Order: sequence, then C-alpha cells, then structure tokens
Amino acid sequence: MKIAALAGGVGGAKLIHGLAKLLPPEELSVIVNTGDDFEYLGLNISPDLDTVCYTLADLANPVTGWGRKDESWTIYQEIAALDGPNWFHLGDKDLATHIFRTYKLNQGLTLSEITAEFCRCWGVNHPVFPMSDQSVRTVVHTAGGEALGFQEYFVHQACEPVVEHFEFVGIEDARPLPQAISAIKACDVVIISPSNPWVSIDPILKIPGYVEAIREKPVIAVSPLIGGKALKGPAAKMYEELGVKPSAAAVAKHYQDILTGFVIDNQDRQELEKIERWRIIALVTNILMKNNQDRFRLAEEVLRFCETILNRSR
Ligand code: GDP
Ligand code: CA
Repeated sequence: MKIAALAGGVGGAKLIHGLAKLLPPEELSVIVNTGDDFEYLGLNISPDLDTVCYTLADLANPVTGWGRKDESWTIYQEIAALDGPNWFHLGDKDLATHIFRTYKLNQGLTLSEITAEFCRCWGVNHPVFPMSDQSVRTVVHTAGGEALGFQEYFVHQACEPVVEHFEFVGIEDARPLPQAISAIKACDVVIISPSNPWVSIDPILKIPGYVEAIREKPVIAVSPLIGGKALKGPAAKMYEELGVKPSAAAVAKHYQDILTGFVIDNQDRQELEKIERWRIIALVTNILMKNNQDRFRLAEEVLRFCETILNRSR
C-alpha cells in the first residue's frame, strides 16, 4: 500500500518513524512543513525537516524529540559567552547540518536537493520532501497587535502571546514540490500525522495545488489532541485563543473537507458520534506514543485502518 504522509516536527515524526519501519521506501513518501524555517546567526534552519530526518535516521534526541542525540553544546556556549543570542538551542552536531545546508543553498542548490543529499548521507531511504522549494514563513499575529516570526513566538516567547491569526508569508507564490505532488498522485492513501493543524499542516495544505491533489485520495488523520490537550506545544492553546474548544472532534472539523478517516484516542470515545455525523470514519485506539514500540503499534493500526477504508470504497 502506497502512503503519502504530511508531517510537522516532533508529533508528526513519531508516527512517520513507525510507518517507515513497516513500509519500504517505495511505499512511503513524507511531505514536511517548512513554514517554521528561519534564519538565525546567518544560518538557514529547517526545524521540522531536520526533526523528521533525524528521527528516521535514528539520530534524534529521544528526550526532546528535536535535535540530535549524544549532542554537545560547545559552540552554543561560546556564542552565549560572546553575548550572542542563545534563545534557540543549537548543538554542535545540529549546527553542522545548518552550516552545510546554508553553504549549499548559497551555492544554488534547492532545499529539496539538499534534503535528498543529507538523507542519503544519514541512511534515510524513504523520500522526505520539503513542502516547497520556495520560502513560506509562518507569522503569528497576536492579540497585542504584534507580528511574530514563528520561532520568535514558539521558542523565544514560549508560545505565551495570545494568537489572533496566522499568516503564511509567500504562500501565494510558493509551488508544491513536484515530487511531492507525484507521490500524492501515486499513493493509495494520504496520512496526516498528529502534528499541529494550525502551524504544521495548514501551511502545507494552503500552498495552491496540494488540496486539489489530496482531494482525489482517501485521507486519514491522527489526532494530535488527547482529552482536549496537546501532548506538546500550543495546539490546544491555539484552538482556545481562536475561539474553538480544543478536542479531537475540533481537529476532525478542521480537516473535514478532505477527511475520509480519523484516528482518536480511547479517552475521546465520546466524540465518536459527532465525528461520524460528519461522514468521517473513525478509529478509536491508544494514540499516545511514549516509546518506539508505541510508534510501531500505532503505525500498524493506522495502516490496517487504511486497508479497511480502501476495501470499503472498492
Ligand atoms: P512540532 O513542529 O515539533 O511542534 O511538531 P508537530 O506539529 O509535528 O507536533 C506537535 C503536535 O504533536 C502537538 O499538537 C502534540 O499534541 C502532538 N503529539 C506529540 N506527541 C504525540 C503522541 O504521542 N501522540 C499524538 N497523537 N500526538 C502527539
Ligand atoms: Ca515545527
């Protein structure tokens, strides 16, 4: 069964990791949000791409989910000692990625070419695509009237400002990565990982061309919310601030126009009826991924659910 999966960072990468253990590279392509990308200390940083690639390469820090395992912080500490900025944590190994990515971008290579090269070097065999080779930048407009770059909001200000709306700068001129569109066209099912719907998945879906391709396929999403709460990050807080009660059902509603099936947690069983009323087929299971075993088990269940949905539509 061929899968095209959409992902943000830490939440998305966990399910992708599970899927990659079960599917050969010809059957799983990953399309990753780059709306969080930014420039820091003159370096081009792609946090979600790196999280997905490090996770697939078994290089990720298992505690944080982002950054590298067995990391050292010499350069970070030395920059701080020079009164340099230190709100964004960059370990030495991670820095090598950003330095070399920036160097190659300056040489004229595209982000997708560089990602493919890095994946080859890291032994990641599944295709990982940035959503676009053009820059899209998520800007958080706050209730206080500020316009914050995503990392400024997310890391520097620790998601404290109240969100008023999001803007994806450059999105009208961005084009979907052609290989990503081909992967969607060739797939049996599109899977939306349990990533933040507002800032990890929406930037992908809002690039003109993706929804049109995705609509042609069955689409399954896994809820990033359990019991109305996010496991990490501001997803639930964002729903609240935007006037929507955070819940698995709210996520299903978010994706309603494209969704065939939705996977929710046992804790949220009471939301099943509501979701099914929107003609979305639901699977209720344990969607918390605390360790690798959880990732593989959930990925297995999600793939079985995909098969069931494909059989229904045959
Ligand atoms: P980020 O870019 O690193 O913030 O990562 P994502 O957008 O990919 O993931 C953030 C989302 O992942 C949050 O809304 C979390 O609730 C969700 N998440 C994290 N861990 C898990 C998990 O184990 N299971 C599920 N279902 N969602 C998770
Ligand atoms: Ca992210």
